[in-house]
Amino acid sequence: MAGIYIHIPFCQSRCIYCDFYSTLHLDKREAYVEQLCREMLERKDELLTRARAYNTLYVGGGTPSTLPPSLLQKVLLRTAEIFPLATDAEVTVEANPDDVTSEWIAMLKDTPVNRVSMGTQTFNDQLLHFLNRRHNSQQAERAVSMLQDAGFTNLSIDLIYGIPGQTRQIWEQDVRKAISLRTPHLSAYSLMYEEGTPITRLRDKGQIEEMDEDTSLWCYEHLCQQLSEAGFQHYEISNFALPGFHSRHNSSYWEGLPYLGFGAGAHSYDGKDVRRWNESDLLGYIAHGACYETEQLTETDLYNEHVMTRLRTHQGIDLQHLLLRFGQSCHDYLLEQAKPHLLQGNLQKTGQSLHLTRGGIFVSNQVMSDLFM
Ligand code: SF4
Repeated sequence: MAGIYIHIPFCQSRCIYCDFYSTLHLDKREAYVEQLCREMLERKDELLTRARAYNTLYVGGGTPSTLPPSLLQKVLLRTAEIFPLATDAEVTVEANPDDVTSEWIAMLKDTPVNRVSMGTQTFNDQLLHFLNRRHNSQQAERAVSMLQDAGFTNLSIDLIYGIPGQTRQIWEQDVRKAISLRTPHLSAYSLMYEEGTPITRLRDKGQIEEMDEDTSLWCYEHLCQQLSEAGFQHYEISNFALPGFHSRHNSSYWEGLPYLGFGAGAHSYDGKDVRRWNESDLLGYIAHGACYETEQLTETDLYNEHVMTRLRTHQGIDLQHLLLRFGQSCHDYLLEQAKPHLLQGNLQKTGQSLHLTRGGIFVSNQVMSDLFM
């Protein structure tokens, strides 16, 4: 199993909370795609010895749908030409709701894409405006139904909770609306105040207030409860899916499978102990091609990463697998470190699985760091 990730770093405007690598240089889109195709060709054999066909392709950003439809189609078709995709490959493209037009959907129909992920974030227009999202709730609803009418059943939407001004009532409406759209996958994130973002500056100047912790916890609890009643499996801390619709691409990251990343800022992993990433520098990438940094992961890095990624999932850490992969001393260390959290009810041991409880999810960062070496 192996996957491909393609980074399209363009956005038409910047959301006030975002610290992802993206740029407003839309005039560079064609030159970027040229370089992207070159990079894919140059690196096409990097994983080939193990991956005869790729199981997932994910085009993310930035906002891939800011590419003109013909250019996005070129990326998708060229990728599928260079990298053989399995017949049942999951092929996802991220989109902003207001880019989803009938022309865009028609273009998508002529590509291998079978999954669309949309950053809806909230269905409250005032909050969307505050976040500097460029769509409104009506456009989001319309985008979902247009895609469904065109036969795209595997859709995912994102929600954010913890937005200043987002009351419990607004969040209840967001969750209700999300469920009513009948998309089989939903990701929900707590708003983060990342350094250097406009929203953090507003908070630091006292112009907005963070949502209090009780309300934030209530929002997450409410979401978990409502989605569970609607038949969704809570398969990762931030991800929920109806049976059969979990994100195979993201799951492969949590399972430590190899993937190739292309484009400025994209990461790759060989599935063993080497991670590489391209510099987040659009102009440098276009002018000189990919410039990689490489990290050789130590056994400690790999153990820590295993603990962190597995603990985020519903299945948790498979203790037998951990024993075989990292040895007796790591296994014993983990169980020793886990003891206080087992006693406090943050962790639970079920058979050979060590996993977070619902309460443990709220303190997951602390639990993980206590289990790290
Ligand atoms: S659309 Fe996505 S990548 Fe672009 S600024 Fe907003 S959150 Fe960031």
